[in-house]
Amino acid sequence: MTDPTDANTNASSVDVVVVGAGISGLVTATRLVAAGLTCVLLESSDRVGGRLLTHHHPSGPLDLGATWFWPGEQRVAALIAELNIPTHAQHIDGDAVYHAPGGVQRLDGNPIDVVAGRFSSGAASITDTLAERLGERVWLTAPVHRIDNSGDRMIVHHQRGSHVAGHVVLALPPSLAVRHIEFHPALDDHIHDLAAATPTWMGNIAKAVIVYPDPFWRGQGLAGAAISHIGPLREVHDMSGPDAAPAALFGFAPLAPGVPTPSQHDIVAQLVDLFGPAAATPLDVIVTDWRPDVRPDIHTDARPDRDNRATGTPTDTYGHRLYQHSQGGGRLHWASTETAPTMPGHIEGALGGAQRAVDAITTAITTAATTDPLSVGPST
Ligand SMILES: Cc1cc2nc3c(=O)[nH]c(=O)nc-3n(C[C@H](O)[C@H](O)[C@H](O)COP(=O)(O)OP(=O)(O)OC[C@H]3O[C@@H](n4cnc5c(N)ncnc54)[C@H](O)[C@@H]3O)c2cc1C
Repeated sequence: MTDPTDANTNASSVDVVVVGAGISGLVTATRLVAAGLTCVLLESSDRVGGRLLTHHHPSGPLDLGATWFWPGEQRVAALIAELNIPTHAQHIDGDAVYHAPGGVQRLDGNPIDVVAGRFSSGAASITDTLAERLGERVWLTAPVHRIDNSGDRMIVHHQRGSHVAGHVVLALPPSLAVRHIEFHPALDDHIHDLAAATPTWMGNIAKAVIVYPDPFWRGQGLAGAAISHIGPLREVHDMSGPDAAPAALFGFAPLAPGVPTPSQHDIVAQLVDLFGPAAATPLDVIVTDWRPDVRPDIHTDARPDRDNRATGTPTDTYGHRLYQHSQGGGRLHWASTETAPTMPGHIEGALGGAQRAVDAITTAITTAATTDPLSVGPST
């Protein structure tokens, strides 16, 4: 893509800069480009996808971030169909187990898992496909550190330079945005404090994926599902691929700040307690700690500053009404999953956030073109 250069700043000029190449940013950019707008996506890390992260293990793709989508998530269903993403059903057949101080109890059936869908090539197949289509519009290793709003345009400063734009979309967790980006002029106090107080969904979790030669638990009539109050993993699920290839379990370990990442040894010992001796010999154990102090290369963030909470409980902040409105004189828009009033935290929420940003921008540009034909929005 060729960008015209802004005469005053010597920076490339586009209609929209999107900050963050997770699924909300990639979908926002895709829709804006389809609407005929010029767009650049600035991503701080050296990969796209954000909290969609697929590891390509020799036995098959393994999701180290998001795993599932659920019935009724219409935006996810539509995107899967649009991109032709292969899916399969979550394995839920068999008995679950419950582990409390009294011991391990085999349940009658599986009240833990719900009907859900899985991305057979890994969740990141969605973001990889979108990024491939956007091509050179996606800039990696370009963390944004400052956004200037001059009233009639935005200047976005990042590690690889700067871009001038009519609109900016913040497609990253709100607490990250206000922690790492300087806004000039400063954001209104209400929205700043709200963003600082909005926890990043799953920012205090380690996800363990344990790969086996075969799904041995199924042979015992077990679903591979567990709730545990004993070991490091609070919940466990079958994460096998279609036709059980790869064969895998996964579990979540909620972690307070400063607590060490669970060890492979402790995780395997817990799975032996839950599912028997066959669990002792995995092919691989992959632990992804999503806390920022442990994996700074994963540019998520954990909890906001505790003394800077704008509202009572953290999840009150999700989908807050302030996120539904553009800031900065209508030029700054929120898009991440935390900002969605419906299904915040889910991929579905990220897609809802993206759609809101796209609608706000296309409406603003159409309105500007109607009221002042000389200030036509799109620069193409
Ligand atoms: C372990 C785990 C399991 C999950 N399981 C599920 C599930 O099963 N189903 C489900 O629906 N959802 C699940 N989720 C949540 C789901 O992954 C998120 O809702 C979704 O991926 C969020 O997308 P996003 O675009 O809003 O944000 P992100 O994916 O966080 O994208 C934000 C992007 O912004 C980038 N960035 C940060 N700072 C800057 C900066 N200064 N400049 C430029 N770029 C920056 C980041 O690197 C990142 O790429 C899970 C998440 C995790 C971590």
